[in-house]
Amino acid sequence: MPAFSIRARLTLWFSALLTVTVLILAGAAYALLWYGSMQDMDDALQGVARALEQQAPRRGSPFVPADVDALFRRFFGFSPWDRYVQRRDLLNPLEPRRQAARPGTLPLSAEARRNAAAGRETYETVEGLAEFPVRVLTKPVLAGGRIRNVIQVGMSQENLYATRRRFLWVMAAVLPLGLLLAAGGGWTLARRALAPVEHMVEAARRIGAERLAERLEESGTGDELDRLSGVLNAMLERLDLSFRQMRQFSADASHELQTPLTILQGELEVALRSPRTPEAYREAIQSALQEIERMAVLVEGLLLLARADAGMLRLDLKPMDAAQLLAEVFERTQILAQSRSIALDLEALEPHLVLGDRERLRRVLLNLVDNAIKYTPAGGRVTLALQQRDGCVCLLVRDTGIGLSEAEQEHIFQRFHRAGSARDHGAQGSGLGLCIARSIVEAHGGTLQVVSRPGEGSTFTVCLPHAA
Ligand code: ADP
Repeated sequence: MPAFSIRARLTLWFSALLTVTVLILAGAAYALLWYGSMQDMDDALQGVARALEQQAPRRGSPFVPADVDALFRRFFGFSPWDRYVQRRDLLNPLEPRRQAARPGTLPLSAEARRNAAAGRETYETVEGLAEFPVRVLTKPVLAGGRIRNVIQVGMSQENLYATRRRFLWVMAAVLPLGLLLAAGGGWTLARRALAPVEHMVEAARRIGAERLAERLEESGTGDELDRLSGVLNAMLERLDLSFRQMRQFSADASHELQTPLTILQGELEVALRSPRTPEAYREAIQSALQEIERMAVLVEGLLLLARADAGMLRLDLKPMDAAQLLAEVFERTQILAQSRSIALDLEALEPHLVLGDRERLRRVLLNLVDNAIKYTPAGGRVTLALQQRDGCVCLLVRDTGIGLSEAEQEHIFQRFHRAGSARDHGAQGSGLGLCIARSIVEAHGGTLQVVSRPGEGSTFTVCLPHAA
């Protein structure tokens, strides 16, 4: 498996996102825990300070009421050391020295003193008093309208630190384990989700040029992978069709070339078998030349189709009058029509400019008129006409010939296809003419269509874009 398969990438992304989410959540929980506990501690300190404030201080004794232990138990759920509860006389100059002499006394910072003088409380965290920092509230006490004393209540943060340590331990243990589980889950999920893709890869690997009839399995759920299978199957269908057409085309082309070659070989062998008169040799050579000509026409047609398929059909496009072209074709086919006792008409034509390759379009029209004469019984009529439709110039070749059934109309533009009616009619042909004609017209950006009824006749219409 490649190092960064979709599966690996999905798992990585999934795990990375989960890690970030969990870290954000853990950070938020940590902050909430820490600041919430701090707030609770401050509230409790405030409660104790208020209770102490309401008790009148006894003269000469440091302020530690007898029931302080009960007070602490009420607010904190346990009792800390009493040395963290004290009252200070702000006006007594000896007071700071007296207090400082006692070990474990809460310090009165300059800021707390200033705040107290201004009637404000101060919350501080004092380090160095004991093993853990102590949270201290310094609260000024009003007596006779003046601030004389401050009450200081302190509490060790030992419990807070212990809770924090436990929280971090749990996180350190749970986080990697959770991530490991998530990565494993992601890996399994990705495998399950991508299993149909694996099947498709296997099936696609099996399908080669020789097995194009095989199809990928479609689940029918309509999800993305099902749609992908559908699209690939449709592509296989088209590939299969073009492969079959190509094979058919090669077989037909070989067959069409083989016939004149066999005739050529036979004729030359017969000519060489015994000495002949110069006249007989001349006849044999002429017949051989005719076959070679047939082959040359066929090969030229095949080459043109191959170029058109590859989009390399070169056209010498120039503005030209379509009516004039039709008149020219009319002139050139008149004798052929007369020889088959068919009336050839040219309907009154006005000049219409199109952008076209004169030689190639002449070839298309000659082919259409040739067919019309070929597939129309003696006494019939072939008409050449010109019409203007939706910005297009349409050249029509209409006949009163054998016509084509609907099914035949669909196939006559395919390579080497000859309708059964044409064969019954006894007409010769290769079945390439219409296919070449359509390729040329389409290379001009135009269309070649047929409208026909068996026994009544056909109309072939070449529509070309009007020259601007
Ligand atoms: P070919 O005429 O050499 O067989 P084409 O490609 O020109 O080849 O024509 C293909 C087939 O279309 C013909 O074999 C014939 O069956 C049918 N076809 C073409 N033109 C006509 C027409 N005017 N009337 C009836 N059938 C036609």
